[in-house]
Amino acid sequence: MSENQGPSGPREGAPGGEGRELAARARQLDAEDVLGVLRDRFVLDDTVYLDGNSLGALPRAVPGRIADVIAREWGELRIRSWTESGWWTAPERVGDKIAPLIGAAPGRVVVGDSTSVNIFKAVVGGVRMAGKGCTEILVDAATFPTDGYIARSAARMTGLAVRPVEPAGIAEEVTERTALALVNHVDYRTGELNDLPGITTALHSAGALAVWDLCHSAGALPVGLDAHHVDLAVGCTYKYLNGGPGAPAYLYVRESLQERFESPLPGWNSHTDPFAMDAAYAPADGILRGRVGTPDILSLLALEAALEAWDGVAVEDVRAKSLALTDLFLECVAAYVPAGRVRPVTPLDHRRRGSQVSLVCSGAGEVMDELIRRGVVGDFRHPDVLRFGFTPLYTSFADVERAAWMLGEVLGAPGASGAGG
Ligand SMILES: *Cc1c(COP(=O)(O)O)cnc(C)c1O
Repeated sequence: MSENQGPSGPREGAPGGEGRELAARARQLDAEDVLGVLRDRFVLDDTVYLDGNSLGALPRAVPGRIADVIAREWGELRIRSWTESGWWTAPERVGDKIAPLIGAAPGRVVVGDSTSVNIFKAVVGGVRMAGKGCTEILVDAATFPTDGYIARSAARMTGLAVRPVEPAGIAEEVTERTALALVNHVDYRTGELNDLPGITTALHSAGALAVWDLCHSAGALPVGLDAHHVDLAVGCTYKYLNGGPGAPAYLYVRESLQERFESPLPGWNSHTDPFAMDAAYAPADGILRGRVGTPDILSLLALEAALEAWDGVAVEDVRAKSLALTDLFLECVAAYVPAGRVRPVTPLDHRRRGSQVSLVCSGAGEVMDELIRRGVVGDFRHPDVLRFGFTPLYTSFADVERAAWMLGEVLGAPGASGAGG
């Protein structure tokens, strides 16, 4: 494709010298990209898909695997599949496949239920492990809403108060009365990366636990849960992990805390002997305590197949590409978008940037609708944020350059958007 091609055909106003230089650089970066071959592991078309931070693209391994699960494992083996096809142990098996992506050793991650439900398990479980005199839970003031709602309910149930705090201020805000802090690793609106090692250390020095929500970081950058002594963590699998709509989430419990972890949802799947059908609850050892009831096998096995896209991939390479993609996007936006129309709110500092770029833009909702009509898919967050997510496994540098060029067209061409100034 020449540099005069837009996402869906020839570019009408071909970019001038600077645009040609950026398009050539994007081609060069794609030619040198060690992860470039991974794009073939996904089902994609010529749409520029920059919404993998909301719903990851479909990995090619999934449809065949799910067809087999349905036709053979369910259709023919039926109930035998709980043992013969490994259904029963899938939550911890798939947890062990996610573990290396978030810096966890085997036996520390279990998959099942939604992120929201796992936040509940982690927060109540964390409060139960905290010191007796604790009176409050700190919650990231900019948190994704579900985390805040659930933390408030968990606090009511445990007799604690919730106090919203800026993640950067946690070291000053935490006290000996703080049971734990629930923090988003990457802010879903701005793409800002919070300082997981520093905040975790600050919490620990006040005797509080660190509970991290990894929804927007897992699969995009190294997390290092074990190395940084994180206590509890949760995350979803349908964003950068490409597990599919509603794919089950995961719970991480630090090894040294597992023996003390008491789930507020002690279902029969977390019992030490589920088929004893005992009236009295006795928790299983280890991370199995994070299980609740019968797992959602179809989604869980779709996720397991989706994770094959990570075979042989180093998270460090993913991070390096992610930063190169977001750098190029910011540079192309500066070159192609008329001055003053957008303002990046994602930090320029690599140490504080996740894998997305958020641009404040008046009329952002209409602008995104128009971009999507033209084959560039990002998303819009109320009231004025354009969000572009970069999934290093399948996003190319050419995608990035084209998306910025199209944004410039939408915002520059008179009447191209209903957004006005
Ligand atoms: C996407 C996301 C969720 C989603 O929770 P669900 O229970 O899967 O709907 C929760 N928290 C954060 C920070 C998210 O980005």
